[in-house]
Amino acid sequence: MSVSTLASAPSVCAPLPVLGRDVTVPLVTGGEVAYAALDYAASAPALQRVWDDVAAYAPYYGSVHRGAGYLSQLSTDLFENARRTVAEFLDCREGDQVVFTRSTTDSLNLLAAALPADCQVFVFETEHHAALLPWRNARVTCLDAPRSPRAAVETLERALAGRDPYGPALVCVTGASNVTGELWPVRELAAAAHAHGARIVLDAAQLAPHHPVSARDLDVDWVAFSGHKLYAPFGSGVLAGRADWLRAAEPYLAGGGASRKVGRRQDGGVEVEWHDGAARHEAGSPNVIGAYAVASACKALTEAGFDSLVAREQHLIRAVRERLADVPQVRFLSLFGDDAPRVGVLSFVVEGWNSSHFAAALSAEYGIGVRDGLFCAHPLVRTLLGSDPQSQGECGSPEAAPGEKSLNAIRVSFGAGT
Ligand code: PLP
Repeated sequence: MSVSTLASAPSVCAPLPVLGRDVTVPLVTGGEVAYAALDYAASAPALQRVWDDVAAYAPYYGSVHRGAGYLSQLSTDLFENARRTVAEFLDCREGDQVVFTRSTTDSLNLLAAALPADCQVFVFETEHHAALLPWRNARVTCLDAPRSPRAAVETLERALAGRDPYGPALVCVTGASNVTGELWPVRELAAAAHAHGARIVLDAAQLAPHHPVSARDLDVDWVAFSGHKLYAPFGSGVLAGRADWLRAAEPYLAGGGASRKVGRRQDGGVEVEWHDGAARHEAGSPNVIGAYAVASACKALTEAGFDSLVAREQHLIRAVRERLADVPQVRFLSLFGDDAPRVGVLSFVVEGWNSSHFAAALSAEYGIGVRDGLFCAHPLVRTLLGSDPQSQGECGSPEAAPGEKSLNAIRVSFGAGT
């Protein structure tokens, strides 16, 4: 299977330039081949444009907010402009806050730390662990895997109908699954949440690189995503949305930058007044280059337009499915059905094959980089494989002997550079 063959249909737009397209890798069979990175769902390569923007800014890099010097002021402007660019990219509402974090995991942990007292959290068992696990200090209701988008909404509605109607509640849901690529009915889930007085946070780690995300249109209270999946692999993530819970919460990290005024108490202790805005949760010297890179990626994607990116990914997904459908041992993994709308992410097993060996062979013999394992979504993959939870280890790649039922899966994922 050659990726250039898959992508060669003339009706499909050209890929966006990314780093690493010219990388060649050695094959065990001898010689070298152009590397085909089909693991965009894990981390996407930097767009050339992002790389160029970062390189152009790097000589002018300075510490933000507190410096009087020119470079510090320039960096502060770029950092705060990056916030505005991200707010525009996510179509945030007036008064929404954009907090720069390290990643989606960090963003959701930040929100978890900012939950009001006694908050109830509703989350589907199908979520990535980053969305499933941060709520340990709240009352968590874990919802069964739905088998259709309609069932997802009905399951949530049923659960919310039984909740304490006076206490705060939060629903956490993904926009697109990192395992199946399937799109979730975010707008309908948001409507259900709000109808029951709950709020909703969208895990857009897999959605934002493939589709426009409008916090306003989807009516979600917060959106979280990661720069490294959005072609900006410089260590930044985003939590954007309602300011009130964030403003009322203790800072996620305590330290300089988050504090407006610090002094000694009469009893010898330390007293502090925290900032109200995004800075409240961005203590320490922020990752300015990371934020700048995220903003650059947001601009590049907006300018390129998602329509052509989506068309290209859909073409690639269809091509892979059609080729693999010729192999009788291949079984695709889906929750909502094989034809459900999805982003450029597809998982499958090859019956009789150990997925880890299959993925290793694709790399060693063909130079194709895919991912094998449980993709940090153990409950979902177990449901999809119909496997016994006891038979699997804790990590991402439990192994089955050749010929045994697969305990893990293979994932291919596409992006703007494929
Ligand atoms: N949510 C989804 C759907 C993901 O696919 C991932 C990463 O794969 C995450 C959250 C966590 O992202 P990060 O590792 O950048 O924090």
